[in-house]
Amino acid sequence: MHPFGLSRAIDASTAIVAHADDPQLAFIAGGTDLLGLIKDRAASPDRLLDINGLRGMAQIEALPDGGLRIGALARMSDVAADVEVRRRFPVIAEGLLFAASGQLRNMASIGGNIMQRTRCPYFRDGDDLPCNKRRPGTGCAALTGINRTHAIFGWSDSCVATHPSDVAVAFASMDANVIVRSRTGERSIPFTQFHRLPGDSPERDNVLERGDLIVAVEVPARIEGRSSHYLKIRDRQSYEFALVSAAAGVATSARKISSVRLAMGGVAHKPWRLTAAESALRGVSLDDANALRAAIATAFAEARPLAHNAFKVELAQRVVLRALETAGGRA
Ligand SMILES: Cc1cc2nc3c(=O)[nH]c(=O)nc-3n(C[C@H](O)[C@H](O)[C@H](O)COP(=O)(O)OP(=O)(O)OC[C@H]3O[C@@H](n4cnc5c(N)ncnc54)[C@H](O)[C@@H]3O)c2cc1C
Ligand code: SF4
Repeated sequence: MHPFGLSRAIDASTAIVAHADDPQLAFIAGGTDLLGLIKDRAASPDRLLDINGLRGMAQIEALPDGGLRIGALARMSDVAADVEVRRRFPVIAEGLLFAASGQLRNMASIGGNIMQRTRCPYFRDGDDLPCNKRRPGTGCAALTGINRTHAIFGWSDSCVATHPSDVAVAFASMDANVIVRSRTGERSIPFTQFHRLPGDSPERDNVLERGDLIVAVEVPARIEGRSSHYLKIRDRQSYEFALVSAAAGVATSARKISSVRLAMGGVAHKPWRLTAAESALRGVSLDDANALRAAIATAFAEARPLAHNAFKVELAQRVVLRALETAGGRA
């Protein structure tokens, strides 16, 4: 295992400056992804800066307007159990509860969760096979290899990996914002713009730069939040990443959809919003399964399955439909 030094951050400003000035330094929160990456030789920081002692970053605040502010150091289990999170945005609580295991959720932070790296086995398991994410310029073993769990949307010849976070899909569906602090101040990044598509630089998962510290995720008040649901399909029922997942939130009038928010996981390098389906679903009755199915299908015109994952195209549409119907049952 790559040796590293460990120190504790005293305050956010010093931590940010240290991260900006030292390319060999990494923040560590719960360590549940970073330490695995170091063991797999997919990351080799010389210095880890423990940010768990930074003040004001672990709170979960229910905002007076109906939104939420979730500190980057809040633990997944605490957020999932929070009464206001469950009441205002069940999709977020469920996205967390369907992830990992109880012990992992007790350690893992929200900031670390959305920063976690792909579970593509070629990226995680070996350093001999080509992987542009692990070693830029070497190629993509999954493109012509076993790609059953990989992307059907937005991939490039450089990388066909998917993003593994569940709660990120829920955040994307609700138009959350990532609050980031750097040397130049604080900025808010729309969740759907936080993660990147691979293009020709898949080594970059998101838009953060050195010296960027995630301090919180803010979820705006949303009428669709209360009737929302996260549905995850995986190869085994616990302790497994999504093959395909869907986050759905809906507002209705006399069972007709007045507005809907949909996102999918396990299908792209980032949480995938279904904006075409959201438009097509407006005015459709929740009781008309054929019309719902047809509207959802509009978002799949651009699906490009790989050799081993064509099944995801049909599976994903069924998952979105079931998630939407369950969310509708809560309206
Ligand atoms: C066996 C196993 C199964 C899992 N199953 C699932 C699953 O089903 N669904 C799911 O969503 N996840 C799953 N996970 C992933 C798990 O949720 C993540 O490992 C965890 O959320 C990461 O949080 P952490 O605090 O431990 O991050 P760390 O490991 O501490 O950090 C991860 C990365 O985030 C960076 N980072 C951390 N905090 C900040 C911050 N505030 N600002 C900027 N950068 C930061 C670190 O530098 C590092 O690069 C699983 C993990 C394991 C090991
Ligand atoms: S899909 Fe991406 S992460 Fe997987 S081997 Fe290809 S380049 Fe590497």
